[in-house]
Amino acid sequence: MRSDFPGLTPGWHYLDTAATAQKPQAVIDATVNAMGRDYATVHRGVYARSADMTLAYEAARRRIAAFIGARENDVTFVRGATEAINLVAYSHPRKGRVLLSVLEHHSNIVPWQLAGWQVDVCPLTADGCIDLDAAEKLLTPEHTMVAFAHVSNVLGSPLDVARAADLAHRVGAELLIDGCQAVPRLPVDVAALGCDYYAFSGHKLYGPTGVGVLWSDKLDMLPPWQGGGSMIDRVTFERTTYAPAPTRFEAGTPAIVEAIGLAAAVDYVEAIGIDAIHAHEVALVNRLREALARKNSITLYGPENSAGIVSFAMAGVHPHDIGTILDESGVAIRAGHHCAQPLMEQLGVPATARASFGVYNNDDDVAALIDGLARVERIFG
Ligand code: PMP
Repeated sequence: MRSDFPGLTPGWHYLDTAATAQKPQAVIDATVNAMGRDYATVHRGVYARSADMTLAYEAARRRIAAFIGARENDVTFVRGATEAINLVAYSHPRKGRVLLSVLEHHSNIVPWQLAGWQVDVCPLTADGCIDLDAAEKLLTPEHTMVAFAHVSNVLGSPLDVARAADLAHRVGAELLIDGCQAVPRLPVDVAALGCDYYAFSGHKLYGPTGVGVLWSDKLDMLPPWQGGGSMIDRVTFERTTYAPAPTRFEAGTPAIVEAIGLAAAVDYVEAIGIDAIHAHEVALVNRLREALARKNSITLYGPENSAGIVSFAMAGVHPHDIGTILDESGVAIRAGHHCAQPLMEQLGVPATARASFGVYNNDDDVAALIDGLARVERIFG
């Protein structure tokens, strides 16, 4: 399988899939064809090439919708999770109080602040999961939104989305789920989850950058966010009317090539099976957590059932130094605050080292990381 990914050069141990996934050749080929042989605009052309491109773009929407158990008209293409959350935060007609959690990525904090929501914060359990018992106590009828990560990008903590949805709905709030880290590693069926909005980025699902998805079966309740071409019904200087969702939220020429590339990524993932990918990553996480737990110098963060992501610290060594020394051994991990500064503050550290897995990782990658950490220990005495 590694040979499907031209970015995985021999001897390189890529353990930063939570930041962005490497791309299989099938995705690269799909984008090259969409940008070359098949290229034209969508939705406007009267000529055959444009009509074909429109069919391909809409087929991509259907393909991605089916992958997450959604109806195609409930899937809006956006630039990524960041844009999806900004869209809801700005466009929502009932801006009030939003309950977030300590572990959220900045892209699920800052948009709410900028759009003028009053932000409340749900604490975490001792092992780093969103504490839904605490959420139950914090929620009031003044809350109109709850916005939680399905899987933490730092700790890998999975969320019981169905329970979170139930808690939100009991007080009349809606639930937005940031699914960035869940969609590449857990089966996601939005209908079964019971949330109101689900956001994710294509590039973490082995697809291109510049495209992502906002799913909601309530998109028609949201007014338009950005104005421009395509999102309208009729424009006059006196009064403009808008297209129904999802077109209403896709102002301007969309990311045609990227959407088609993302559909190819979904094909790739489905051919392997998301359950198989999940089981594979669980095995790698267990192996890594066990090996790290044997090292006295290491502090492990996050729950045992972390999905594909392991954060840790080494006594007396800054995570950036860990990352730099590992890089010399061909091991690529992430070191930093991972765009989750409130979580770092809660953990009492400026940064963590983070290894994250994808479909292409194997035991060699885990062994290379453990060997590399032994070298870090030797260098720092
Ligand atoms: N939420 C989570 C949990 C993430 O991991 C990320 C990416 N690190 C984002 C949101 C933001 O995604 P993007 O930068 O692709 O919009």
